[in-house]
Amino acid sequence: MVSCEWTGTMNLTEPHCGTDLGLMRTKAEPQEDGSYKVSGQKIFISAGDHDMAANIIHLVLAKIPGGPDGIKGVSLFIVPKFVLNDDGTPGTRNGVSVGNIEKKMGIHGNSTCVMNYDEATGYLLGDAHKGMRAMFTMMNEARVGVGMQGVSQAEAAYQNAVEYAKDRLQGRDVTGVKNPDGPADPLIVHPDIRRSLMDQKSFVEGGRAFLLWGAQMIDQAHRDGNKDANGLVSLLTPVIKGFLTDEGYDMTVKAQQVYGGHGYIEEHGMSQYTRDARIAQIYEGANGVQALDLVGRKLAVDGGKHLMAFFELVKSFCKDSAEVNDDFTKDFIAPLKAASKDLQAASMYFVQNGMKNPNNALSGSNDFMHMFGHVCLGLVWAQMAKAATEVLDAGSSDAAFYETKIATGRYYMARRLPATQLHLTRILTGAETVMALDAASF
Ligand SMILES: Cc1cc2nc3c(=O)[nH]c(=O)nc-3n(C[C@H](O)[C@H](O)[C@H](O)COP(=O)(O)OP(=O)(O)OC[C@H]3O[C@@H](n4cnc5c(N)ncnc54)[C@H](O)[C@@H]3O)c2cc1C
Repeated sequence: MVSCEWTGTMNLTEPHCGTDLGLMRTKAEPQEDGSYKVSGQKIFISAGDHDMAANIIHLVLAKIPGGPDGIKGVSLFIVPKFVLNDDGTPGTRNGVSVGNIEKKMGIHGNSTCVMNYDEATGYLLGDAHKGMRAMFTMMNEARVGVGMQGVSQAEAAYQNAVEYAKDRLQGRDVTGVKNPDGPADPLIVHPDIRRSLMDQKSFVEGGRAFLLWGAQMIDQAHRDGNKDANGLVSLLTPVIKGFLTDEGYDMTVKAQQVYGGHGYIEEHGMSQYTRDARIAQIYEGANGVQALDLVGRKLAVDGGKHLMAFFELVKSFCKDSAEVNDDFTKDFIAPLKAASKDLQAASMYFVQNGMKNPNNALSGSNDFMHMFGHVCLGLVWAQMAKAATEVLDAGSSDAAFYETKIATGRYYMARRLPATQLHLTRILTGAETVMALDAASF
């Protein structure tokens, strides 16, 4: 697998359980030789089968009969497509087969399969009944990887939108003709097209920086055993996954919109970005559940220590940047402080009201995840703008690049970051209006 000759899959989902894996039915019967016979059905398994590798190693969650009920009774198994010969080469076909290849909205390059396990030979990976913990050693990084899919789809869609906006001639610049020799000016002269392109540009560049920060913390945690980095990236993982994929999808729609009807027609391929970006909001834990994990679990880990560490990081950055220059203080530090204050107010609301009625916290969880994402992008934009200012002050030969960075960051701080105010307003209304109707009234 390390040399990429074999591929692998992760098998969690079953027809009746996706988010609530405690309902799992797949079982693993212990055998005398220490192996297990795995039986059950998994659905929606990415790259479940194909002819591109000599063997496929399925990691399968299943229950050992007689173990604890629910999620505490789940264990993790290695189930190879071909059971290995003594010399390690693929041998006999195991009892695992494809029940169906799913028809999907997007990601058609990946065969998403129903997998049937019929007394397939499996080997326990990690400890019995600790399968979720074992699976999660991969899933946190997988979630950062899915966050990257959100940003990457948005980036590719944005690059196309920019080219189209420079090329397509429609209407005239209201402040004066820009293309007098042509029948019209290019789309990029229009403020509403600019707004859309600036939304996209400031998201993809900020999102990329946020992802690199997350990946850096994962390296620090794994290679240096840095517990603080581990705690912070664990807190931010649902934000990286949920916020970057929700926004990433929205950005592919914005890029498609720049094309007008030509984005909806298949000719330019723009609808593929929206179709492919959509799944990132769903798999590796649907985004609503990421928000639930953030508010219901991650905020309180270690007595809220990692959330406090985040606020401290923002505070010390603002303090250390007080001397950059007046414009930087006005354009970057002031909005970052205001947004961070909104996030603190929302956290405080959850502490004060979440215990009384958990629905008060969970009705605001999606807003909180988005608010947190905006503050993170605000922070990385302020960091990038500070670095750019320092390089410019030192006399850079690439001034245009750094000036563009600062201008893009100013846009984010002025036009995107204030979204925290709306999110906070919604959060402070609690559960009352959200839960007002009984189920029959829908
Ligand atoms: C193309 C594709 C590839 C996939 N690849 C894999 C794979 O390789 N391996 C694998 O194991 N799985 C895979 N999945 C499955 C995927 O991870 C699940 O679809 C996902 O976890 C959601 O589970 P579900 O579809 O059963 O939805 P449900 O769990 O039924 O959830 C439905 C909706 O309800 C919300 N919800 C559920 N519970 C709560 C709650 N307590 N509070 C608030 N909201 C809630 C969810 O956010 C979601 O919006 C894949 C799915 C697709 C479509």
